Amino acid sequence: MKRREFVGGLAAAASLTACAQEQKDCGDGTATVGETFEWSCVTSWPPKFPGLGMAPENVATAIEAASGGRIKVKVYGAGELVPAFEVFDAVSRGTVEMGHGASYYHKGKLDAAQFFTAIPFGMTNTELNGWMYYGGGLELYRELYEPFNLVPFPTGNTGVQMGGWFNKEINVIDDLKGLKMRIPGLGGEVLRRAGGTPVTLPGAEIFTALQTGAIDATEWVGPYNDSSFGLHKAARYYYYPGWQEPGPGLETIINKAAWESLPADLQAIVETTCQAVTTDMAAEYTNGNAMSLAQLQQDENIEIRPFPQEVLALLKSISKDVVEELMATDPASAKIGKAYFDFLEKASANSRISEKAYLAARDY
Ligand code: CA
Repeated sequence: MKRREFVGGLAAAASLTACAQEQKDCGDGTATVGETFEWSCVTSWPPKFPGLGMAPENVATAIEAASGGRIKVKVYGAGELVPAFEVFDAVSRGTVEMGHGASYYHKGKLDAAQFFTAIPFGMTNTELNGWMYYGGGLELYRELYEPFNLVPFPTGNTGVQMGGWFNKEINVIDDLKGLKMRIPGLGGEVLRRAGGTPVTLPGAEIFTALQTGAIDATEWVGPYNDSSFGLHKAARYYYYPGWQEPGPGLETIINKAAWESLPADLQAIVETTCQAVTTDMAAEYTNGNAMSLAQLQQDENIEIRPFPQEVLALLKSISKDVVEELMATDPASAKIGKAYFDFLEKASANSRISEKAYLAARDY
């Protein structure tokens, strides 16, 4: 969203509030004055899961408060109304008005959507937000989802993830061969080409799969979320960094007809709230990861290790091939990918002399 549109939305909201106070229909939007909306929101997360599952809860609470109760949203965890990976279809069909999840779960149906969650070795949280809100990403996101009757809103970002939990040491490239790992999206395809077997599992099934040996390794998020699932009790080695998801953006999707039924002031409240929750989640994860990591560092049963450089170099090289092939075979991915990498080239030049240089200089 461009800043001028954001300000314009607020102005429209203020003007409509004035209309509502005067109890007259100002003719902007299809809703009648005082109309209320009761929506359902399905998600890909365990109910009220820290961070991920709380983001839609926080959106619901904030928009109800900001609208004086004119819009109420009931949030459902994965499996309560629809399974974790059927959020997109349920909202697209209009079975429910709203959903929250990650756009890379639409891989296979809408491959180009992966650019809006995470590209291996791609944008960080701050870079992705820069592209989305000011660099043209949001317009491409909306255009991609339009044929599915969906309006997407960036809503949350976990920041740089961890590489994951492994029950096998990864010392050399060959250690990836035969590795059965839960890893969704493009990262999974990269692992496959490195000789591993990627598996996609919803979060709620990860712990049991790892503990029973059905999988050798899993990535999930980072210290904060991984501790909630107890993954440190099911694997010994915790590798970093999360090359596969360097700053994955999460999304709210709203059925187009439901979105258009909202008057402009409620639309502004929903849109502004989603952006606020993106910022809020970054703060929550900065705190949550710091606190959880401090605890994990005390645990003698686990080892926190960097991936070997040769392993990262191979994964980076394969990632480049995978993304180039995606862009060569899917026209939407070609268009969105070009915009993504044009932005990243400039943003990373700045990141190199700001965040990266500063963190290296601070070095503690
Ligand atoms: Ca992940």
